Amino acid sequence: MKVFRTVDAMQQHARSVARTGRTHALVPTMGALHDGHLALVREALDHADHVTVSIFVNPTQFAPDEDYESYPRTLDADREQLDALGVDAVFAPSVDEMYPHHADDTLAGPLAWVTVDRLNETLCGRYRDGHFRGVTTVVTKLFNACRPDVAVFGEKDAQQLVILRRMTDELLFDIDIVGVPIVRAPDGLARSSRNAYLSEDERAQATVLSDAVSAARARIEAGEQRAEAVVGAMQQALRSAPDARVQYAEVVDAHTLRPVDTLHPGQDVLAAVAVFFGDTRLIDNAFVTVPAA
Ligand code: AMP
Repeated sequence: MKVFRTVDAMQQHARSVARTGRTHALVPTMGALHDGHLALVREALDHADHVTVSIFVNPTQFAPDEDYESYPRTLDADREQLDALGVDAVFAPSVDEMYPHHADDTLAGPLAWVTVDRLNETLCGRYRDGHFRGVTTVVTKLFNACRPDVAVFGEKDAQQLVILRRMTDELLFDIDIVGVPIVRAPDGLARSSRNAYLSEDERAQATVLSDAVSAARARIEAGEQRAEAVVGAMQQALRSAPDARVQYAEVVDAHTLRPVDTLHPGQDVLAAVAVFFGDTRLIDNAFVTVPAA
């Protein structure tokens, strides 16, 4: 497995992959790899002849009060796992490589940003100022550095997936976006690098997130069409964790990400929650198609 640290070396490699007629899949990650990431890698290996995994903790998607500094960084262990799976290349650039002007104080840092309007205003976007601008900007840079034909993302970050599909479409990137269902621990908790921050007691309580989105799915599939009742079912599940601080529990249209009042037969909706345990913020969601009446 090759490891590239610079954009130049990565681009050269990507060109050589293309020259030999091989298809190239990219799996963008921030490292601290777990089973969720590995499911994305397996999907990528099924989709292309050559797989690159990027590992980059992207500073611009963290707000100043978030966990950029303390985010787990486990590059050696990550490399071993990826090598064992048969990944061809790892792209692990520095901040200087990805943001060449970030320390440029004449014009105060990076000036070029990619933004997807509107879809970034609901759910997590309402609470994480600038987060999705950071994500869309870094993913654009990763696309330019790695030149993939396919890019694989998790449904765990549902709003991110919707935004990146829209970005790829509107900006005419010639890249197929593949989404992978959420990978969960046996008790239902969605795998996340941030689960490592939870105390034993918080970890036990954190199953309420998957309980909440399962309850939402069950209510919708049983024919409930009032969003308020679906949200009520999620809130009830979340209340059983004494230390949970709910940031949001919502049902939105899965394409526009706008809140819905009444669910319509055939409509794709997204039931999503964000919950704090102490300083640790966890998210979960379910994409559901509303059944015919
Ligand atoms: P991250 O390293 O947190 O930026 O995540 C990298 C990619 O892995 C994103 O596309 C995530 O949506 C995806 N991912 C993270 N956790 C999971 C999970 N439990 N199941 C499926 N995909 C996941």
